[in-house]
Amino acid sequence: MVNLVLNYDFSSMRKTGFTFHELYLWHDIGNAPGNFLAGLQVQPGDHFEHPETKRRFRNLLEVSGLLEKLVQIRPEAATVEQLQLVHSKDYIEKIRKMSDLSGGDAGEGAPFGKGSFEIALLATGGVIRLSKAVWNGEVDNGYALVRPPGHHAERDRGRGFCIFGNIAVAAKFLRYDCGVKRIAIVDWDVHHGNGTQDAFYDDPDVLTISIHQDGLFPRDSGYMGERGVKSGFGSNLNIPLPPGSGNGAYLTVFEEVVRPALEKFVPDFIFVASGYDASVNDPLGRMMVTSSGYRKMASILIDVADTFCNGKLVVAHEGGYSLSYVPYCGLAVIEELANKPTEILDPNLSKRDAIPGQDLQAHQAEIINKAVESIELIPNEA
Ligand code: ZN
Repeated sequence: MVNLVLNYDFSSMRKTGFTFHELYLWHDIGNAPGNFLAGLQVQPGDHFEHPETKRRFRNLLEVSGLLEKLVQIRPEAATVEQLQLVHSKDYIEKIRKMSDLSGGDAGEGAPFGKGSFEIALLATGGVIRLSKAVWNGEVDNGYALVRPPGHHAERDRGRGFCIFGNIAVAAKFLRYDCGVKRIAIVDWDVHHGNGTQDAFYDDPDVLTISIHQDGLFPRDSGYMGERGVKSGFGSNLNIPLPPGSGNGAYLTVFEEVVRPALEKFVPDFIFVASGYDASVNDPLGRMMVTSSGYRKMASILIDVADTFCNGKLVVAHEGGYSLSYVPYCGLAVIEELANKPTEILDPNLSKRDAIPGQDLQAHQAEIINKAVESIELIPNEA
């Protein structure tokens, strides 16, 4: 058997934290095949948001040899007080009660089973714990492989498989409990990060950027004109891309919009809402990003974090529904965080990278050019 670990030189690795708990995979999302409700006309099956995508990602990380070199940051359950930084007391209590009985739907398309309240607390608490470890210098940066995801969750309702806003709560915790002043949250999930946007819509000290497929979910949100309100005006940036966008469009967005936006904002800490549903194999998105695209997006953000905030960056897992492909995209991101490529190769990467349309297309460039103009309104560091 080939030993993938033995010959590695880990000396140049960054100290990268990794947060995971087996219970994340026990969150029960029901028997809807894909996202159709099972019934007399629909055979029950596996939901898109199935634990297996996450399990296979973690397994590939283990086989790569990298997992054991990461600093394991054990999650602690978030407290109700911490959740209340973003969510209403009534909503939190409603989820607790439903979870104690037999579960239900947290709002719109966020099904859960018995015990999911505690698991969701552990997911949010995992991102909080890792963020604290990065802020305190215990580790340089980190990846939180949490579930359920969080970026669609709103103050009073869960949406799109999300129950609590994992990153939103952790960002508010850093601000109010650790004194972190300016935080940037970059969301490359294929869906709009509506919950994160809402949580900071009037806050000039948190820059929220979402790059997503135009109009995918939630349907009526994620437009470029949504810029924030009151003193937070300018500090929300949406880049809705047309279906079919690939590495060319995404990397142009990162070089021409995301990087300069972050450079203008000057963050003290960066979060990434990391969904792999913009990948070329995803059943829910219609984009074409490959693992090399995710790798480059990560390396751009790591570079910005090195320049402005001493490398302080936390990546938290959001969507991504391709059983076969999520692991390779996720591994590429963690290799970049740790500054350690492994010997695991993404099968057929060169073919996927060469799919016609991967280059930036004129109709995509038009939208990106508009987004470039909106950088101007981002609030400068006070
Ligand atoms: Zn998504």
